[in-house]
Amino acid sequence: MNKKVVVIGAGIGGLGTAGLFAKKGYDVTVLEKNPTLGGRANVFESDGFRFDMGPSWYLAPDLFEHYFNLLGERVSDHLDLIRLDPSYRIFFHNDPEPLDIKSNIVLDAATFDAIEPGSGEKLRAYLKQAEYQYGVATQHFMYKNYDTIFDFFNRRVMTEGQKLSVFSKMHSFVSRFFRSRKLQQVMEYTMVFLGTSPYEAPALYNLMSHMDFNQGVFYPRGGFYELIKALERVAEKNGAVLRTGSPVAEIIVENGNAKGVRLESGEIINADVIISNADMHHTETRLLAEKWRVLPQKYWDKRVMAPSAFIIYLGVREKLPNLTHHNLLFSEDWRKNFDEIYKDPCLPDEPSLYVCAPSVTDPTVAPEGKENLFVLVPIASDLKMTEDEKEAYSDKVLALIEEQMNVPGLREKIEYKRIYTVDDFAMDYNAFKGSALGLAHTLWQTAIFRPSNVSKKVKGLYFVGAGVNPGIGTQICLISAELVYKRVQGITSAEPLGSL
Ligand SMILES: Cc1cc2nc3c(=O)[nH]c(=O)nc-3n(C[C@H](O)[C@H](O)[C@H](O)COP(=O)(O)OP(=O)(O)OC[C@H]3O[C@@H](n4cnc5c(N)ncnc54)[C@H](O)[C@@H]3O)c2cc1C
Repeated sequence: MNKKVVVIGAGIGGLGTAGLFAKKGYDVTVLEKNPTLGGRANVFESDGFRFDMGPSWYLAPDLFEHYFNLLGERVSDHLDLIRLDPSYRIFFHNDPEPLDIKSNIVLDAATFDAIEPGSGEKLRAYLKQAEYQYGVATQHFMYKNYDTIFDFFNRRVMTEGQKLSVFSKMHSFVSRFFRSRKLQQVMEYTMVFLGTSPYEAPALYNLMSHMDFNQGVFYPRGGFYELIKALERVAEKNGAVLRTGSPVAEIIVENGNAKGVRLESGEIINADVIISNADMHHTETRLLAEKWRVLPQKYWDKRVMAPSAFIIYLGVREKLPNLTHHNLLFSEDWRKNFDEIYKDPCLPDEPSLYVCAPSVTDPTVAPEGKENLFVLVPIASDLKMTEDEKEAYSDKVLALIEEQMNVPGLREKIEYKRIYTVDDFAMDYNAFKGSALGLAHTLWQTAIFRPSNVSKKVKGLYFVGAGVNPGIGTQICLISAELVYKRVQGITSAEPLGSL
């Protein structure tokens, strides 16, 4: 009989794992608490608008391709990827001139030179370094399971640590290349994707700039949820059973061995291997009896959680010509803004924020002549807000978009609005402190310092998703799936797998 694998949670890591194990011939069942698959990459429809609830930046297409290739598929069989042009538009507080990043070195270097003479050449040097960093990370670090500190601090890191920017912080690294605040912000904003701040993130994450500047920014036609549908299709094609509306209440352990799960309904499902895609905090402190916990509550009390998000989904009555697909607004006092998220938690007064308008590219996500907007303000995890406070903050944020992003009269043109924030993340995804992204990528929560993907107390219990290595991000969670697969198969290589 085939070995039985139960996956708790159908986020990208859970679905990714299901595909790999099912392809290898395991008998796979995925149990998702919510009525839909995809976890934080969720979707909903209302009033003729279709809203992707979470991710919207399809970055690092090579990493997605690698995953699909392992399953004998091509991304192009499933997704129609559009390369965005411009990749994104940046607005600065109290500055009438937005700038467009085109992911074309000649044009982007000229944009940089216009802001800080000579910075175009520096951008080229910076992006060369980012490309090198990306290559080393994806070929030697990200696809490796770490067991001891020596796995990470190996000869390469010790001899090349400086070159790989392991030991310095992102902001000081960026400041060595660019003097102007604006350009520093352009190179640092991706740290928010990783749930951290440029003042805390290790500079090795400058590899993020290889993704947005060198590789370009993509959009799957139909919306980001097309990726979830593709993962679902591939997992089911290989025989995995995906069950929604099936919350797990307990991981059953006997004599230190994972034996199965008990659903909230009381149903028991036996398993030889259990892989939890639920947030680690939830798995360790809610699904396991105290005796089997490796990371108890006191561990979590000391962790830095990634921000939560104040999200507004908007259906807008008319087209908004000044917006492109991805739009960012950066605050003038960058450090204060990060402090309001990490150090002195409060709703930022002059926030940096993100507005996605997928209907600029894709007419299927909004009724004809209308705009679909997703507004996201990163805010501290665990912030408590009353319904009135949420409404007041949303009004403030929308006023800011009107003034600073040149969208006059936006509030009068809204015909659908939904606010989604801290308590929603906690309730929908069992997210600790309502964090949107999970465990932040500070130096001490990266690589060997991130929780392990295998339980040290329960044989046969594994973890997948943003909370373990390599961490946050849709394509990164697919790497996490491959790492669990390697773990179970006893494969210790550092490179991506050539085949299953
Ligand atoms: C607003 C937002 C924007 C983002 N933007 C981007 C982006 O542009 N690009 C990008 O690459 N990444 C982005 N990300 C990050 C990316 O979406 C996540 O890192 C990734 O989707 C997390 O996947 P995961 O595998 O950790 O699973 P999760 O998505 O965390 O899913 C875990 C699943 O487990 C389920 N679960 C929990 N408890 C139980 C239980 N007891 N029983 C059964 N099921 C349970 C949950 O319901 C959930 O479905 C964004 C995230 C958010 C929230």
